[in-house]
Amino acid sequence: MSKYDFIVQELEGLKEQGLYNIIRTIESPVGAWTVVDGRRVLNMCSNNYLGFANDPRLKQAAIKAVEEYGVGPAAVRSIAGTMSLHRELERKLAEFKGTEDAVSFQSGFCANLATIPALVGKEGVIFTDELNHASIIDGCRLTKAQRVIYPHRDVDALAKALEEHKDAPKKLIVTDGVFSMDGDLAPLPGIVEAAERYDALVMVDDAHGEGVLGSHGRGIVDHFGLHGRVDIEVGTLSKAFGVVGGYVAGKREIVEYLRQRGRPFLFSSATTPADVAACIAAVDVLMETDEPVRKLWDNARYFKAKMAELGFDTGQSETPITPVMLGEAKTAWEFSKRLFEEDIFAQAIAYPTVPKGKARIRVMISAVHTKDDLDFAIDKFAKVGRALGVI
Ligand SMILES: *Cc1c(COP(=O)(O)O)cnc(C)c1O
Repeated sequence: MSKYDFIVQELEGLKEQGLYNIIRTIESPVGAWTVVDGRRVLNMCSNNYLGFANDPRLKQAAIKAVEEYGVGPAAVRSIAGTMSLHRELERKLAEFKGTEDAVSFQSGFCANLATIPALVGKEGVIFTDELNHASIIDGCRLTKAQRVIYPHRDVDALAKALEEHKDAPKKLIVTDGVFSMDGDLAPLPGIVEAAERYDALVMVDDAHGEGVLGSHGRGIVDHFGLHGRVDIEVGTLSKAFGVVGGYVAGKREIVEYLRQRGRPFLFSSATTPADVAACIAAVDVLMETDEPVRKLWDNARYFKAKMAELGFDTGQSETPITPVMLGEAKTAWEFSKRLFEEDIFAQAIAYPTVPKGKARIRVMISAVHTKDDLDFAIDKFAKVGRALGVI
């Protein structure tokens, strides 16, 4: 008997159920082609939508920041001062998003953990889509607020729930903007209307909309033309922006309040000068040009059309996220393994991340894929799909 036995048993259980994560090792920058476990493969699964993870402009900005500001902030911002770089990033993000102000966090995950508990306590009610991201779920768990989980994208059910709780002193509706596993969008116009009727706050997590939706990739609020009507936009700097970090953009009072009450802001050190400078460069690039965003969408449309022609089911995605639906987890794992042998890196996603029987390969299209890259991938998907009897 050892005190670790239960952990070992848990691990064995994960392996038996096929839920044990095999984590591959990346040995190069993340680009269209990436060295993974010693093999140069076409990367079809990272969140590097715009190719910024290895963009020379971002790299130069990071290097310069290290020379000027060193490697670490050495501080929680509220205790020992915040670097001018962090403030510059926040001003830029607010300008980019068209909001009054923004506050940055260490990650998108932290931004959700900071925001939800700061805004609603035990007298409040949170209305949350059943398919919201884990960081939203955890943010909700950090409050004593009552939680109402509404069916996926169901505005009528949301409105009914708001009616039932109309006397609650604080109401917060929170939703992913783009749902990461299926690539479908939150019905934000309907949500905003319902919120306005019942005086509820609206918070949208735009992690997969940033750099993808709207003019120059300004996100889902811009996509739907809802400027000024969404109270809180949460963003990540680790997906399309290619770096790391998170932020909240919105009304001045809310952002100011999060600087006073957001616990990851108050109790955890800030991101490094290199990260922040690279993020500033990313925003600068996007404000100047929408070229990478257009390329991303061209690539996504091309890939989806070809996959449909081949007879693959690519789900209901409205974004460059392309789920290739395969049904059973075993099929998805086998598909992914064979693709890797064909130099394609595309990971299988199965239960519990998606429902049982809805296992898939989630293809993430990037602006750095060339047409030849996409043709290469389509060819390999066809080959493996036929071998496994999927098409
Ligand atoms: C990826 C993701 C996050 C987490 O962002 P990080 O910056 O990687 O912590 C939060 N919310 C949603 C919806 C996401 O897809």
